[in-house]
Amino acid sequence: MSTTAPYTVPGETGDWEIVVGLEVHAQVTAKSKLFSGAAASFGAEPNTQVSLVDAAMPGMLPVLNGECVRQAVRTGLALDAQIHRFSRFDRKNYFYADLPQGYQISQLYHPIVGEGYLDIEPDGEAPTRVGIERIHLEQDAGKSVHDGHATMTYVDLNRSGCALMEIVSKPDLRSPAQAGAYVRSLRSLLRYVGSCDGNMEEGSMRADVNVSVRKAGDPFGTRTETKNVNSVRFVMATIELEARRQVDVLEAGGTIVQETRLFDPDRMETRSMRSKEDAHDYRYFPDPDLLPLTLTEDFVDECRASLPELPTAKRARFEGALGLSRYDAALLTAEHETASYFEAVIGGTGPTQAKAAANWIMSELFGVLKKRGVPIEKSPVSPRQASELLGMIATGKISNTIAKQVSEIMLETGDDPETIVDKRGLSQVSDTGAIDAAIGEILATNPDKVADYRGGKDKLFGFFVGQTMRAMAGKANPAVVNERLLALLAG
Ligand code: ADP
Ligand code: MG
Repeated sequence: MSTTAPYTVPGETGDWEIVVGLEVHAQVTAKSKLFSGAAASFGAEPNTQVSLVDAAMPGMLPVLNGECVRQAVRTGLALDAQIHRFSRFDRKNYFYADLPQGYQISQLYHPIVGEGYLDIEPDGEAPTRVGIERIHLEQDAGKSVHDGHATMTYVDLNRSGCALMEIVSKPDLRSPAQAGAYVRSLRSLLRYVGSCDGNMEEGSMRADVNVSVRKAGDPFGTRTETKNVNSVRFVMATIELEARRQVDVLEAGGTIVQETRLFDPDRMETRSMRSKEDAHDYRYFPDPDLLPLTLTEDFVDECRASLPELPTAKRARFEGALGLSRYDAALLTAEHETASYFEAVIGGTGPTQAKAAANWIMSELFGVLKKRGVPIEKSPVSPRQASELLGMIATGKISNTIAKQVSEIMLETGDDPETIVDKRGLSQVSDTGAIDAAIGEILATNPDKVADYRGGKDKLFGFFVGQTMRAMAGKANPAVVNERLLALLAG
């Protein structure tokens, strides 16, 4: 076991510990919005997915989308969290140009999901458990488009009213690596559950990053909150930068102001946006247009039953029942598409080929996918073709050397391995006639080496094996080659 040093920021007065809590906004995968029937898909022409409710026309009434409730509950269950049978929607009042209602419908006092946790394995640091404080459902705002016109700002309301889950962690994270692992694991879990596509480039997942620093053993320091950070790398950078800034302020005798900040990736800095507002500034009150939400036992049971096997369980099974290494199991379960591909391959070959399948995916397939920038769902080689290839190796139809060639051709052309082997005559040769002929020629052209071998230079055996394999273009069955060489060299 390697022990990892605690992550700290060094300063003049000694080392400082970082404390981080993340509020992750995850857009719920649903056809329509949280309170309207307008489409919620990404990338449509501006303002083409806006109902009268989303545009906040007077007299319009919100109607809760049951699918969004279901996804929030399934997410809560996947995080081993309490599901609240009673929850309620509140209005959070504020003005912004892309918020036509003048308030956001959210859940402050009675969120749908309570405490849970997520286990993480940060790079180079010890595994740890991160507490989840709550998950609540809320509406997203529209989008202000500042670069469409020289002097004006456009407003696109397509996103207005889309459902978000706000997943709030406890202030349990202690390093950038832990925060990075938390966001990665959460993203993976949401994608397994199917409650969020996790597409950070499209803004489906973004994090508010709360950071404070303290001396070991001291109570928590004052935190700042950096808003809308939209990649794992940027979350980690925000923590580095913000912790460094806070340590410098504190060591110069200053105090940290609780405030909202902004991360600027171009200048690699965080900047103050506004002083921190409190809940009472928003004049929260229960939304009078919506009834409290009560969930039945049956509904929660149905949500639980609909969950797929989750990454932790899958990984344990890959290690235990399939005998994969810890590392391989982690890599193959990190994304559900990879796990599905692997399982489809061994569905074809049977579990005895699990290790071979894992090796092939990680050493042959991954490299090609990465080079071409293609996700595994669009792999040029289907799981069925991969099973066939592994089957041909296992039954000795092709040798390992040839398999490597066939694999390369498959990945290039997408052809079936059988077709490639047949068309190019790559089947393994076990026929002793052909092998003896090749050996005979090699012995005839290397009389000195034959004499040396017979005189006791055993090491030369490898030379003869190599020559024979080369003469037969790698297609000879190695066991037969060995056996025939032994016999023929014996003279
Ligand atoms: P608010 O509603 O004002 O944003 P919360 O208490 O809900 O405040 O906390 C929001 C986030 O801030 C949570 O993720 C929590 O873990 C984190 N947090 C709270 N206190 C601290 C602290 N001292 N340092 C770092 N993060 C903190
Ligand atoms: Mg907050």
